[in-house]
Amino acid sequence: NGGAVDPKNLKVKLVLLGDSGVGKSCIVLRFVRGQFDPTSKVTVGASFLSQTIALQDSTTVKFEIWDTAGQERYAALAPLYYRGAAVAVVVYDITSPESFAKAQYWVKELQKHGSPDIVMALVGNKADLHEKREVTTQDGNDCAEKNGMFFIETSAKTADNINQLFEEIAKRLPRPSA
Ligand code: GDP
Ligand code: MG
Repeated sequence: NGGAVDPKNLKVKLVLLGDSGVGKSCIVLRFVRGQFDPTSKVTVGASFLSQTIALQDSTTVKFEIWDTAGQERYAALAPLYYRGAAVAVVVYDITSPESFAKAQYWVKELQKHGSPDIVMALVGNKADLHEKREVTTQDGNDCAEKNGMFFIETSAKTADNINQLFEEIAKRLPRPSA
């Protein structure tokens, strides 16, 4: 369409960042396919998945979701991965303080090198693992607030807050004027 931006039908690049094993791929598959498979070694690979949601004001948002594993192993490649992203979802595992520390590292990286108007969400995943929790909701909230991010705790396993995560992101996107 010649690059014209339709303000009623947004298309946005979304990247996921965070330690290996925190559940990034499971969050994506829960959102896009409504599934959780604890046994499969999920690899979305070089391609991306997309999912469109409709908001109350009749706008639609098509998320083009990039979920590559490369950024976990090669931090130097990460800027290539999140270049041009409108949304960055930084994920940690509420049972892993190490993954929470790594999430804070990614937030700093995005602030330094991401698009200035990027929408960032901080996600504490595996919220179903109550007994193993080591990162409090308060800690997650404080970190997000300090960095002007949206915060939510999710479970890809039970589907808790997965749709809410993407809906809240959609609401926070800057709207191009018609
Ligand atoms: P990624 O490396 O960040 O993409 O993590 P994966 O999506 O591959 O998930 C890593 C492991 O965590 C898998 O064994 C999943 O079954 C498990 N997992 C992912 N999300 C959840 C969750 O919300 N709750 C629980 N209990 N396990 C999860
Ligand atoms: Mg993965």
